[in-house]
Amino acid sequence: MTFDIQNLLRDNIRKLKPYSSARDEFSGEAAVFLDANENPFNAPYNRYPDPRQTELKNKIVPVKKVPAENIFLGNGSDEPIDLLIRAFCSPGKDNIVAIAPTYGMYRVAADVNDVRVIESPLNADYTLSPKPVLDTVTPDTKMIFLCSPNNPTGNALEKEAMLEILNNFNGLVIVDEAYIDFCPEKSLLPELPEHPNLVVLQTFSKAWGMAGIRLGMAFASQEIIDVLNRIKYPYNINILTQLKAIELIELEKEKSDWVKILVSEREKLAEKLREFPFVVKVYPSDANFLLIKTHDPRGIYDYLVEEKIIVRDRSGVALCEGSLRISVGSEMENQRLIEALEALV
Ligand code: PMP
Repeated sequence: MTFDIQNLLRDNIRKLKPYSSARDEFSGEAAVFLDANENPFNAPYNRYPDPRQTELKNKIVPVKKVPAENIFLGNGSDEPIDLLIRAFCSPGKDNIVAIAPTYGMYRVAADVNDVRVIESPLNADYTLSPKPVLDTVTPDTKMIFLCSPNNPTGNALEKEAMLEILNNFNGLVIVDEAYIDFCPEKSLLPELPEHPNLVVLQTFSKAWGMAGIRLGMAFASQEIIDVLNRIKYPYNINILTQLKAIELIELEKEKSDWVKILVSEREKLAEKLREFPFVVKVYPSDANFLLIKTHDPRGIYDYLVEEKIIVRDRSGVALCEGSLRISVGSEMENQRLIEALEALV
């Protein structure tokens, strides 16, 4: 398959000369900064953050084993989802293909940008077959969104099936790996050097426990990363986030411990949920949440709200009829959920 990123880009983006901020133009050593109309008082918050996030990226390089020039940092991984659609899809003309059911932001970002979404349903057991996905592609399809592990189903998609899609599609394949730290062996990140049309999204919001500071990552060829950098807001990662992330990445060992605890809690919770007569099915999960099928999803949801326990009702989503999505909490939180459900039996 021939893949030409410049050809794939929207015309206006290909020609775009990006806005350059004061700090973008200067990258040497300096003692006095009088270039950005900042206030000299109230350090360090008075200064604009590093638009290239060099120090933070250098901390991420050894963790992810990806060179800095192949990393884009976003305000959550939601930011690169929007930027990719904006860079490559012409409003009112192009489309994206997304598996279904899946994470809702691909559609939100596409709708906001007037880009059509073509859904390609997963198999009944939520596995991925490459052929139906490739068959939905039209000449105006610029990207295919895969989500692995998939939200809300919880399962990681088959590597071979994703690779077949990558090898037989001329546009971008975005693999959203927000939950990959719970099953790192299933990541497509090692495939990056071989696949110029692959974009892998990951985040600090889940296993790393940093959802509040909003930091997401896109990994891709330097050419694709350059496009994202060209159209992002100059200071998209604020100084508090950069400083805190540099500090918290040191907690990699703790992150691994949290993953072990959450995976073990997930399996305990799945086993207990399977025992309830109103639970029809607990789907296998590679992530930090469980999708369960029940006879009365809304009744259970409303009852849990009364008990001050909030889960996610996914019963209105096609192919998720009857389903609730439950995040795996601490041992105590999971215990509270089970005790509340026991009262229903
Ligand atoms: N992708 C998936 C599949 C998600 O479930 C989420 C968050 N729920 C995100 C991306 C967004 O994560 P972030 O906090 O990095 O924006």
